[in-house]
Amino acid sequence: RPTIGVLALQGDVREHVHALAKCDADARPVRRPEELDRVDALVVPGGESTTISKLAETFGLLEPIRKRITGGMPVYGSCAGMIMLATEVLDGRPDQQSFDGIEMTVRRNAFGRQVDSFEAPVRISGVPGPAFHAVFIRAPWVERVSDGVEVLGQVTEGPAAGRIVAVRQGNLLATSFHPELTGDLRVHQYFVDLVRST
Ligand code: GLN
Repeated sequence: RPTIGVLALQGDVREHVHALAKCDADARPVRRPEELDRVDALVVPGGESTTISKLAETFGLLEPIRKRITGGMPVYGSCAGMIMLATEVLDGRPDQQSFDGIEMTVRRNAFGRQVDSFEAPVRISGVPGPAFHAVFIRAPWVERVSDGVEVLGQVTEGPAAGRIVAVRQGNLLATSFHPELTGDLRVHQYFVDLVRST
């Protein structure tokens, strides 16, 4: 069983731990660099990216996580976690840091100009079965990706149709929405399988 950490600085940590455990991973919270050393992979949960950024600096995790990412550690980021993985953040705080993982530009609170939270069906390529019932909460969208980034999912209907909300670059995976809140384990299973294959 792969050991997968959930970055436990702020956000919906417990939901991710439960989802990972159901996918037969050894899931545990990560708050300190020593705990990071003991995991094969990491999930960065939803929450508030400016807060996660600040706490990652305070807890001495920013550089260690960047280093592990450079070394190939698989990471899945959901919502604020997607923002933390992006190399460029629009509408962020000026001092906001990221883990510089996926070569993409994300816009924070992007859907929020239309509506704070909403739900929409999203299909993820490589994940069989029906469309996800995707829950977006002050979510980012992906505005631009580099060549090496695979677009896995887009909103298919409504005013945000066409917006990119799921991407993968190598071992790094990110979604704008929160699969940990709906009981649909397919994204977590996809990530656990990715971790197993590395
Ligand atoms: N708006 C939050 C941010 O900028 C993300 C919201 C979420 O994770 N649900 O970090």
